Amino acid sequence: MFHGRDGRHLEMTNGGTAVFVDVLVLAVSALARDAWDFRFAALLTLQDQNVMGRGVVGFGLADLDWGDTPQERAAVRDFLLRVLDLALSRHRWEELPYEPARAEGYLRTYRAMVEEFDPATAAETKARGRGLPGPHEAATASCVPHRVLDALPFWEGCVFCTAGVGAMPGTSGGPAR
Ligand SMILES: [Zn+2]
Repeated sequence: MFHGRDGRHLEMTNGGTAVFVDVLVLAVSALARDAWDFRFAALLTLQDQNVMGRGVVGFGLADLDWGDTPQERAAVRDFLLRVLDLALSRHRWEELPYEPARAEGYLRTYRAMVEEFDPATAAETKARGRGLPGPHEAATASCVPHRVLDALPFWEGCVFCTAGVGAMPGTSGGPAR
């Protein structure tokens, strides 16, 4: 389950959660540039139910490390919104081995949650230790067959590897589809 402000949350079936994570991983892999971005990518890879178990994944917006200054918080929100907007543009959805029918609704709900979330409320929960993976745990390696960020250093393979998805067609250099 993915929590927002004041008990607001995005509740999905286990299958829906997997779809939500898949489309976010595709978008985050295209946009990650700064250290924080790769830590968020690592958090996403930890939402892999094929590794962690069905129905036990999820995180709250308050658990993220939103930084200490208004500038840092604005940068975090901006990155999250850009990831969600890229996913909403159906970035690489044609490469998925299934039709992500409900993904758009999930993404729109989560985008609204990010927009209305007050990062100042995350400050007191930062020290709880269950937020973002640390800088040394950031997901910076790429999975070659799937061209997304890999779950290293937690385990080898991306969310598509653990789901048994075959290599994705490349957008350049690969065979025409
Ligand atoms: Zn992979």
